[in-house]
Amino acid sequence: MQPQTAPKRIQTRPCAETFRCPGGALCLDFCNTGQGARDRPGGEWLATYGELVDWLEAAGALGAEQAKRLQRAALAAPEAAARTWRRAIDLREALQRVFEARARGSAPSGDDIARFESEYARGAALARLSWAGEHGEWTHDAASSDLVAALRPVVQSAAELLTSERLSRTRRCGSPTCSWLFVDETRNGSRRWCEMASCGNLHKVRRHRERKSAPAARRKGARADRT
Ligand SMILES: [Zn+2]
Repeated sequence: MQPQTAPKRIQTRPCAETFRCPGGALCLDFCNTGQGARDRPGGEWLATYGELVDWLEAAGALGAEQAKRLQRAALAAPEAAARTWRRAIDLREALQRVFEARARGSAPSGDDIARFESEYARGAALARLSWAGEHGEWTHDAASSDLVAALRPVVQSAAELLTSERLSRTRRCGSPTCSWLFVDETRNGSRRWCEMASCGNLHKVRRHRERKSAPAARRKGARADRT
């Protein structure tokens, strides 16, 4: 399913930024929604189960009909929805650490892998193998109104990336203040930024300022030497 335009109600919210710069895999875009919460407590971009479903719909992971069904199921069982949301956020942060470790060339922690395995097993009953041409394709039960169904596309995406050669091209943005992840698809593996229009340009502006201020600093230093 291709990403679509974010529903109007979330277009102006910070999480909509994660559609502007896809990480190259649904699971990485999902990890990138954690930026707000990692920057400051209370800055969670997906603060409820409903917002999680909105995001998944906008990312093309859930169809509109299923998203509506899941929103209705959440309203009918708010406590269960809150628990599922909590698990989703814990899963996201575990995946973030797993992919960051890989980007550094380290092995992920056993606890984080166990968290992922647990969510993989939990949603396994919702997995569907559809037959397309000469091979099968894993999808999920799009008719399910089980709250856990929301997470299945993310879990499936992570399972695919973790076992693919593309994993070796997973990177964390070069900005020290940005935790966004992406798959570097450039031929020579030279992509540094989650997005040129934000972190890339910020870096250019900083370097430009540094270059402009460097001669002044040197002049100042020379004056100081003479006194
Ligand atoms: Zn960035």
